[in-house]
Amino acid sequence: MTKDIFPSYRGRMEYFCLGCGKRYPTDELHYTCPECGGVFLLEDLNFDELKKTSGDEWRAIFDERASSKNTALRGIFRFYELMAPVMEEEDIVYLGEGNTPVVGSSESLNGHTGISTAYKNDGQNPSASFKDRGMACAFSYLKSLIRSKGWDEILTVCASTGDTSAAAALYASYVGGPIKSVVILPQGKVTAAQLSQPLGSGATVLEVPGVFDDCMKVVEYLADNYRVALLNSKNAWRILGQESYAFEIAQWYDWDLGNKNIFVPIGNAGNVTAIMAGFLKLYALGIISELPRIFGVQSHHADPVYRYYAVDDPNEREYKPVTVTPSVAQAAMIGNPVSFPRVKHFAERFEAIGGKNAFQVIQVTEQQIMDSMILANRNGHIACTQGGECLAGAVRANALGLVAEDEICVLDSTAHHLKFVDFQQMYFENSFPKDYEVQPDMDLANLPELVISPEEKERLAPEEYTETTAQKVVEKLGLAKK
Ligand SMILES: *Cc1c(COP(=O)(O)O)cnc(C)c1O
Ligand SMILES: [Zn+2]
Repeated sequence: MTKDIFPSYRGRMEYFCLGCGKRYPTDELHYTCPECGGVFLLEDLNFDELKKTSGDEWRAIFDERASSKNTALRGIFRFYELMAPVMEEEDIVYLGEGNTPVVGSSESLNGHTGISTAYKNDGQNPSASFKDRGMACAFSYLKSLIRSKGWDEILTVCASTGDTSAAAALYASYVGGPIKSVVILPQGKVTAAQLSQPLGSGATVLEVPGVFDDCMKVVEYLADNYRVALLNSKNAWRILGQESYAFEIAQWYDWDLGNKNIFVPIGNAGNVTAIMAGFLKLYALGIISELPRIFGVQSHHADPVYRYYAVDDPNEREYKPVTVTPSVAQAAMIGNPVSFPRVKHFAERFEAIGGKNAFQVIQVTEQQIMDSMILANRNGHIACTQGGECLAGAVRANALGLVAEDEICVLDSTAHHLKFVDFQQMYFENSFPKDYEVQPDMDLANLPELVISPEEKERLAPEEYTETTAQKVVEKLGLAKK
């Protein structure tokens, strides 16, 4: 087996409904269960065949593939057999997603927090968030459907202001051909920055009066009645692609996860689900011998999953959606996560193998999220607010005695810092609207300082201007002469 040869193994995949248990073949496009409306998982019925290859052999295969130049094996499909092994090489879309770096926290950051952390920078994906992992899988599947069915047209649709639209529009514009991309948004409720990525990728952006729920109802109607691929959070192909995050962490740490704690922000809960599912597959095949511990993190302004798991006795737990209040972890500001049934499904399996603490949910405040993001970035990182949320979660877990000294906390910065600079600005200018409940630590604020006024510049001759300005810089910084 050489590293550039596309694998010959093919799975037999089915949609499996978590609501009613019904199964459907994957040669049809399904968003939710036609029978009960429940969310799907995708399962490979041939999975047990993969057990004929030992854990050692799998590790060797994936390690060898890590240096492949075959683009079909370079991104999330390095782990082809565990991902969606029904696609042909020609179907696989690769825009450089996945294989995001794990950057050990600087000594100064670890000094501040008293724990050992590392950021996995998923903002270094092509559209600058982890959503690209799921889209790479969803669009590869669409390409395989288009090829096998000979379709000359298919519409991809999503209703989202944020990273989902940005990713969907990017992949649609790259694949092109029969794929047309539409984003449906509530009129007047989205910012120019949120529109810029889908517009730049050439997606058709349609606005309707109303709120997000109205948009969701329209796109679900379209998906039920027309040849439309709906790419919102319930889409099971996206969850599958996001499992790659777990595979990459395992490989990065040489398949040894015994002393690792994985922190993941929870919004619609697709990502945390996928990460648990991914580690479980590695464990089932003996590729890893221990599961890491998973810590979901939620803000006190949007914490339905935290509230559910805060009840210790599983029989007493009761799922209740919450009404959210504004959160700086905007991409995770969700009161009724669509993937909650998936979380329950995988958390049970995780705990059955890893024990009662294998999956936990930590609650943090908006204040802690912002302070943590600012602190991380002042110490050499590129964390978004959700990355700040993960750091706050790790600090909180340590305070609760849940993290041991010799353990590493791997933090998911789910998007690039640059997508969330508005919150940084509000912090530095102390201009947060009251609802956020964030009071900046002004020692951490950083604002530009004017060295010399325009009027003073007017008064000075050009040579004088340079020297006077330079002298003022010297005074401000206390520079010593060479
Ligand atoms: C979508 C998103 C989340 C939330 O992920 P879920 O899968 O909905 O829990 C967190 N951070 C960013 C940047 C996102 O785009
Ligand atoms: Zn069903």
